[in-house]
Formats: sequence, C-alpha cells, structure tokens
Amino acid sequence: MRRDWKKVEFLKSAFSKKDFVNFPYPVFTFCGRSNVGKSSLINLLVWNRRAAKVSSRPGKTASVNYFLVDGSLVLVDLPGYGYARRSRAERQRWASLMEEFFRFQRGIKTNFILLDSRIGLTPLDLQLVDWLRFLGQDFAFVLTKSDKTNKQQIHNLVREIEERFSRPAIPTSARTGQGRKELISCIEKIERGEKCIP
Ligand code: GDP
Repeated sequence: MRRDWKKVEFLKSAFSKKDFVNFPYPVFTFCGRSNVGKSSLINLLVWNRRAAKVSSRPGKTASVNYFLVDGSLVLVDLPGYGYARRSRAERQRWASLMEEFFRFQRGIKTNFILLDSRIGLTPLDLQLVDWLRFLGQDFAFVLTKSDKTNKQQIHNLVREIEERFSRPAIPTSARTGQGRKELISCIEKIERGEKCIP
C-alpha cells in the first residue's frame, strides 16, 4: 500500500524523558545544527507548511517532537545543537535529553543528520556521528538549502560524505522541493530493510 505523506499528524512534544513514547511503527529522526532547516525539511516531506513550526529564532527551548505519517511511520524532530548563544546549562539539558531519548526510544531505523549545503560538516556534526556510532545507531545525511549554493559544491560534499562514511547524502531544498522524492524513497527503502544507496 502506498503511504500518503500528506496525512501527517502532530503527536506531541516531549520536554523531558517522562514525555517520551514508543510506537509500533518504524521511527526516523532528524537532527542538526540550529537553523540548518530541520523544520522546513519536515514540512517539505509532509507537504505541510505548518506541520513543524519554522522558527526564525534559533535557541528556543529544546524539545523532541513526534509526527505520525499516514498512521504507519513516525518522524522525530530532535532539538538542534550548536546555537552559539546557548548557556552551559542549556547545552547540558540538550545533551541529557538526547541521551535519554536514545536510551528510551525503540524502533529507530535511522537518524538523518542535516547539513547546510553551503557549510557542510562541522565539528559538532562529527561529534554527533561519533556519539551515534557509540550508541550503535545508524545514520544518514540530508543536505539542506541546496538552492543557496551551486551544483559543484553540492556534488563535492556528497562525494566527501560518501567516501568518508559510506552513507547517502541527499541534497534537498525546502524552497524548490528538490530532494523530497529521493528522501521519501530512501526512508521507505530503509524501512523495508534495503540499503539506501546514494
Ligand atoms: P531549524 O532551526 O533547523 O528548524 O531551521 P528552520 O526550518 O526554522 O529554517 C531556518 C531558516 O532557514 C529559516 O529562515 C528558513 O526559511 C530557512 N530555510 C530553511 N530551509 C531552506 C531552504 O531549503 N532554502 C532556503 N533558501 N532557505 C531555507
């Protein structure tokens, strides 16, 4: 049966571990630096401009947001990292929320790490990769805002990531809709236990 990606339901926001929920559905998470375009990407995926609130103000209270797609798949919007003006206490809160999330959550098929096409991998993204590996979690990459840079730069970044991690890096743009089909197809392949070959 084909999944209707437009049928999305916001389930809840979790601000601490008591709010986390497990589901009998496959789970895909999205994480990345604040302002990388995570909310915009989730909105693009589900074709809804307001599914995930797009904020122009980074550094808002960190929360884990759950979305159910067509009653059969869960997307999790994880709190962003790397916002410069965040206090030490806020950074610690982020780290413990993430740690508790990965300890609690079942059914995670993969974790998409979002990278700004113009910026590429930053030290914080590499830390996240190391940490996910340590937790035994799978990961893949999504390049955001590809409308803001040129094809050559994107091509180089995709190659760098493939060579370094043997993982896909899917170029997307919330502005032009580029990459939506490719990302959905990648998610559904991973769900079926197939490899999402770049
Ligand atoms: P988040 O903090 O990671 O959830 O990022 P948002 O989705 O709130 O986006 C941060 C800013 O980047 C907003 O001003 C968006 O309009 C902008 N943005 C997000 N995606 C794109 C994109 O694909 N293209 C362009 N040009 N701007 C984008």
